[in-house]
Amino acid sequence: MKTKTTPLVLPMLLLGLVLSGCQSAQEKITGHDILFQYSTLGSLMEGIYDGDMTYADIKQRGDFGLGTFNALDGEMIEIDHQVYQIKADGIAYQVDDDMKAPFAVVTHFDADQTVKLQESVDFAQLKKRIDNLLPTENIPYAIKIAGLFSYVKTRSVPRQEKPYPRLSAVVENQPLFEFQEVKGVMVGFRLPDYMAVANAPGHHFHFITAERNAGGHVLECQVKNVEIAIDYTDQWHMNLPGDDAFYKANMSGEVFK
Ligand SMILES: [Zn+2]
Repeated sequence: MKTKTTPLVLPMLLLGLVLSGCQSAQEKITGHDILFQYSTLGSLMEGIYDGDMTYADIKQRGDFGLGTFNALDGEMIEIDHQVYQIKADGIAYQVDDDMKAPFAVVTHFDADQTVKLQESVDFAQLKKRIDNLLPTENIPYAIKIAGLFSYVKTRSVPRQEKPYPRLSAVVENQPLFEFQEVKGVMVGFRLPDYMAVANAPGHHFHFITAERNAGGHVLECQVKNVEIAIDYTDQWHMNLPGDDAFYKANMSGEVFK
């Protein structure tokens, strides 16, 4: 009997393996580990500040992320499905679905690793601590740092008029904001060096207060008591603008020099 059943059992086991293999492949295609970005940071550096992707569409691609708005009208932070616009006054405004982005990076946040940090560390030390938690520096990560900060320094960018200056000229006059003993969340990404020009290599964070009323692009911070959640996003999906400004821009990498 045994010799008769074995050939039947084996194919069934194999079929089971194949099916579970298919499921995880399907999960990979439709699942939550996709880092989605609209346009490139390189084109933003070159002064391409108008895109044609709406925030309604961007929210379909993720509930967590960062970016900016057409005419470079402030810093964008998305947290818990809600998109906020931190304008040049430092205040966070709700974003209408029909507003558009020239650059945005989002994912469906789904933590793979969560760590509590109850020490006073500055921004550089925080980034080092995060790097030590990562299994590799060769895949992108989405990172959420929520809790109490003794200090946060942010910037925003003022809305621009055409002809648009390059981003390096805009940030020379960027408004700065400082927060002391503030509860809030830093939303960001840590990307491999090979993603340079297309996006920002290393760490990039935007901040918003727990009351969701102020924030910006993080320049410095001092952590007091936070939880760090890391989402491994090993797929990278880009949508690119189809207009002349994007088609004719120089994206050779000179933009970062
Ligand atoms: Zn930023």
